[in-house]
Amino acid sequence: MSTLLRQLPQVDALLGTPGMASLLSAYSRQEVADALRAALEALRRDVKAGHLTELPDFGGAAFSDGLAETIETARRPNLRPAINATGIIIHTNLGRARLAPEALAAVQAAGADHSNLELDLDTGRRGSRYAHVEQLICELTGAEAALVVNNCAAAVLLSLMATAQGRKVVASRGELIEIGGAFRLPDVIQQSGAILKEVGATNKTRAKDYEEAIDPDAAVLLKSHTSNYQIVGFTHAPKREDLAALAHATGTILMEDLGSGVLVDLSPYGLQDEPVVSDVLKSGVDIVMFSGDKLLGGPQCGIIAGRADIIRRLKTHPLCRAVRIDKLSLAALEATLRLYRAPHDPFRSVPVLRAISQSIDDVRARADRLAAALMASGFDDTRSVSSEAFVGGGSLPQKHLESHAVSVVAPHHSPDALAAALRKAQPPVIGMIREGRFVMDVRTLTDDEVIKVVDAFCGLQIR
Ligand SMILES: *Cc1c(COP(=O)(O)O)cnc(C)c1O
Repeated sequence: MSTLLRQLPQVDALLGTPGMASLLSAYSRQEVADALRAALEALRRDVKAGHLTELPDFGGAAFSDGLAETIETARRPNLRPAINATGIIIHTNLGRARLAPEALAAVQAAGADHSNLELDLDTGRRGSRYAHVEQLICELTGAEAALVVNNCAAAVLLSLMATAQGRKVVASRGELIEIGGAFRLPDVIQQSGAILKEVGATNKTRAKDYEEAIDPDAAVLLKSHTSNYQIVGFTHAPKREDLAALAHATGTILMEDLGSGVLVDLSPYGLQDEPVVSDVLKSGVDIVMFSGDKLLGGPQCGIIAGRADIIRRLKTHPLCRAVRIDKLSLAALEATLRLYRAPHDPFRSVPVLRAISQSIDDVRARADRLAAALMASGFDDTRSVSSEAFVGGGSLPQKHLESHAVSVVAPHHSPDALAAALRKAQPPVIGMIREGRFVMDVRTLTDDEVIKVVDAFCGLQIR
């Protein structure tokens, strides 16, 4: 062992050998030196662990190919595109909504050039970044005024801080949600400096429960979308109209955290339960908050829409500056919102809505194409099967979309090993394991991605 350790060369000595010449012409000296150092360290570890009885040929092609691979891996961005074959359209771990090309172009333009972000081009004076989207949001939701912040969590925190700090927030026990990523409504209320007054029971809360909790200290009646669970059976929740009447009679504010927030009616696609923002505001809710990168199909941001006097208070609150939206997201948001008005049809132009509204025939045809291509590539045990896709992103937890999937068993791979190997592909392919088979739902794939999935399978080390 000690002989082998002594035979390990120095990085600088190896750099000068002829075997390194082609690497040094393709990569920087620093990159080659870093890769060499890592390779020598790994060898030292293997020797010490007794895994190695002889050192590799440092002048050989195998060794320099290994270094090239190390360098290529180090050059690859950590955050990179992945293929979502989970059938969950808005998947938080996979980056939620894809942006439309129009939104990407807007990001490119806002990032590459200076802009009128906070400059009023008419007067030459300082303008507001919010002005670029406020009118559009009002037009699409029927709100009097709107504000956009970093995300929906920030929107909820800001709204509570600016309206209820030191005062009571009345909320139903059936709606005290946790949505993951440590966003628990009771904790957010506490952080805002407001005092939570829970009313009702887990399954039933009546308008009267809210009414009895309202005293001069009460500032807000808070409703929230139970985005990732549903209470079914013996249940009751008051109508928004009734809570609005109560709020307005008592001088409190009716606020609703919608979470996903959808601008268009999804009931033609079997998704009746997601409340449309304009309907919620019409029913008398004073302000609503929702995410930009869920059903809206835009960038990460949080939209607050509703009564002008309340939005004004939010805009002048010190926290507003701390949670403001950045210009790239703002650019993507404006472009996405424009896809909801003429001449566009959002169900064609917004990728999230396109994935939802895509016909089952189109989805099945894509699955059949992928299955045929995999079989032609030697994956004989491949099937095109029906499956269930989900909207995800804190909306419609119980509702699935009819979908189609490709289910594969690869020779020489357990389902887990296949899933792991495909996660290492470029781009990574993320699917599911069902009943001992690797399953890819194709409702979340584009036609281009079908080709990439086939490439990923063809690139598997052992087939
Ligand atoms: C998703 C969600 C949030 C948080 O939204 P982000 O934009 O991720 O901050 C808040 N409330 C509800 C009900 C949600 O579904």
